[in-house]
Amino acid sequence: MTKKNNTKSKKLSKYYNLINHNLIYDNHPINRYKNNTPIISGNKAELLKKLASSIGSIKKCELKKNATNQVFGDGNLNAKIMIVGEGPGANEDKEGLPFVGRAGQLLDKMLLSINLNRKNVYITNVVNYRPPENRKPSEIEIKRYFPFLARHIEIINPKILLLLGSTALNTIIGDEEVISKARGKWMKKKIGSCSTLVIASFHPAFLMRQQEQKKMAWIDLKMIKKKMLELKIKIEK
Ligand code: URA
Repeated sequence: MTKKNNTKSKKLSKYYNLINHNLIYDNHPINRYKNNTPIISGNKAELLKKLASSIGSIKKCELKKNATNQVFGDGNLNAKIMIVGEGPGANEDKEGLPFVGRAGQLLDKMLLSINLNRKNVYITNVVNYRPPENRKPSEIEIKRYFPFLARHIEIINPKILLLLGSTALNTIIGDEEVISKARGKWMKKKIGSCSTLVIASFHPAFLMRQQEQKKMAWIDLKMIKKKMLELKIKIEK
């Protein structure tokens, strides 16, 4: 190598060191938009507490005005499976917990049939206060509570979201869906920062009235079990 070339090469190497030469030698694209900051930051329990308190500040709501307790959620905050029902009934209103009445007992049995329980799932409802006379929540009420439900889902960040009944289905997926047609099908859905697989099934209260539909619910439960295996979702017993 000539003296001239040698000097040139030394200068070049000095330059490369100066400007992080790996950027030049590495033949990988640089992702300038990579953002490792989690959208949900902070402790889940704290975030849920804040959410429950914002729900508690809702004003001029007939549901809240007539209810005894807020029914926020129950189960494992780190569960990969989240269940959304419609709204609290009398027992839930009394105890402040979702699905503790007769429909809840059936839900527990359904979950148990695929080795699930409240230690490995998280449960909430579309609305957090009991609708008077157990009526369906109105469109306005569903719209009012939706941002809280969406935030709830974001915080829990499930891999599988099970929607029980038409109110939960229509709230999350859309008004045009009919539960008898939409049930038992996997859908992908992004709710805020949470990307999850969604499946709808019949509400346990409906199954208590229409026993012959239990076989369809069993198909849906088996689909969830299979998906948990595929996604390697480990459950706490
Ligand atoms: N039905 C629901 O949809 N949710 C409950 O919490 C109880 C009954």
